[in-house]
Amino acid sequence: MSTYGFHFDNSYARELEGFFAPWQAAMVPSPHMLLLNHALATQLGLDAAALESDQGAAIFSGNEIPQGAQPLAQAYAGHQFGNLSPQLGDGRALLLGELLDPNGRRWDLQLKGSGRTPFSRGGDGKAAIGPVLREYLMGEAMAALGIPSTRALAAVSTGEIIHRDTPLPGAILARVAASHIRVGTFQFFAIRNDQEKVRQLADYTIARHYPAVQSVTNPYLALFNAVADRQAALLARWMLVGFIHGVMNTDNMSIAGETIDYGPCAFMDRYDPAAVFSSIDSQGRYAYGNQPLIAQWNLTRFAETLVELVDPDSEVAIHQLTAAINHFPKVYADYWLQGMRAKLGLHTEEEQDQELAQDFLTTLEGRSVDYTRAFRSLSAVVLGNPAALRSQFDDAETVDAWLQRWQDRLAREPMQAEEIARDMDQVNPIYIPRNHKVEEALNAATQNRDLGLFRQLLEVLAEPFTERPGLESYAQPAPESFGVYKTFCGT
Ligand code: AMP
Ligand code: MG
Repeated sequence: MSTYGFHFDNSYARELEGFFAPWQAAMVPSPHMLLLNHALATQLGLDAAALESDQGAAIFSGNEIPQGAQPLAQAYAGHQFGNLSPQLGDGRALLLGELLDPNGRRWDLQLKGSGRTPFSRGGDGKAAIGPVLREYLMGEAMAALGIPSTRALAAVSTGEIIHRDTPLPGAILARVAASHIRVGTFQFFAIRNDQEKVRQLADYTIARHYPAVQSVTNPYLALFNAVADRQAALLARWMLVGFIHGVMNTDNMSIAGETIDYGPCAFMDRYDPAAVFSSIDSQGRYAYGNQPLIAQWNLTRFAETLVELVDPDSEVAIHQLTAAINHFPKVYADYWLQGMRAKLGLHTEEEQDQELAQDFLTTLEGRSVDYTRAFRSLSAVVLGNPAALRSQFDDAETVDAWLQRWQDRLAREPMQAEEIARDMDQVNPIYIPRNHKVEEALNAATQNRDLGLFRQLLEVLAEPFTERPGLESYAQPAPESFGVYKTFCGT
């Protein structure tokens, strides 16, 4: 173990030769710690106080390799906007290694923006401060909402100016993840018809993420089902909070079921299945309402890589995998309904609940009501204040019929109103990363090198369910003057 508490155990480097290129980060001129995630560092068994230093900045910029790390760039392929790119890989990232925390849990530690690698193609291997901070913030916000996500351990400025449309300060994100194995990692070897490596990767994945399937009759089919199950649960969580990933390419889908690779992502303001924020998604392929369908599409690409492992008779394998893929919408819908019941304060289950939930969404659609606020205000309605919701509508009568149905339904719940309202406030966040707040914080950081607003926003989002005085502006939708929001890819 090193001075800072890093306890590396690098199974990917040890067991998967041929799946990566050993590599070094590019030296940067003057690394400076922008943010260190003390809570996460402590959870990982690291000495946060010692890392809050020039030495820490040197480590998280890649200038210094901590003892036990074995930096490498991982190979992967991927379907980007539906088109296969046979070779992507870590073009601007390095896996430093795997950390074992004090509970024995294993975490990938990755640097993003650490310079060119053999997978860089035309890119410079760098990252700008804005996208680094955006990923930091969004990942932490998702984690605080209880949604599986990669986490930000540190953000470091490099002292370099990098060139995008304009010159921008360079930065590096140190992030941790259950792993960085993607659907695209399987695709990389499957499309090269390297079946031995696909099997090796599947076995590694099972041992690391899905040990329970080791003992079943067909572990590879069970692996598919287990991955699909985690994706279904994840997608339901995204949909319930109004999260739009923005670039659900197969190389951005984690086999471990975490939200990964925050680029042009955003939270929806008004409820709109067609909502798209990403400037590069002109066709709306990754629109809010399409996300579960895209997850199923991506899982189909994953299934294709497993055919030869599932059964020597490819017809049998395809038949079994197709049945599993076709089951995904039902698994997803069950997770979604379970989450919606909680959002509506329902602890018991009734046949009509799905329709009740859907009809609330239909009531919100096409109106200037904020999705997050509308759900949050439902607990006040339970406590006898229907105006909390009604006042958000220009035409309040449109929601009255639904309110009546919902209250009739609530009357059949065995719990007290106070308990129901309290539980609802634990699942309907009051604070989410609102686009105008994110933008304001990133602008101050990028243009004035001022992290004040960013830190404040991070702190607000660390407790998304707890209403606190003085934070009213964080619970409000963007002012009209903010206009149409566009997000850009983090490249
Ligand atoms: P992303 O859009 O971040 O999911 O990245 C897609 C692919 O492009 C990955 O293989 C990245 O490593 C690569 N990539 C993105 N930005 C850069 C960059 N600035 N330099 C080199 N490679 C990059
Ligand atoms: Mg990516």
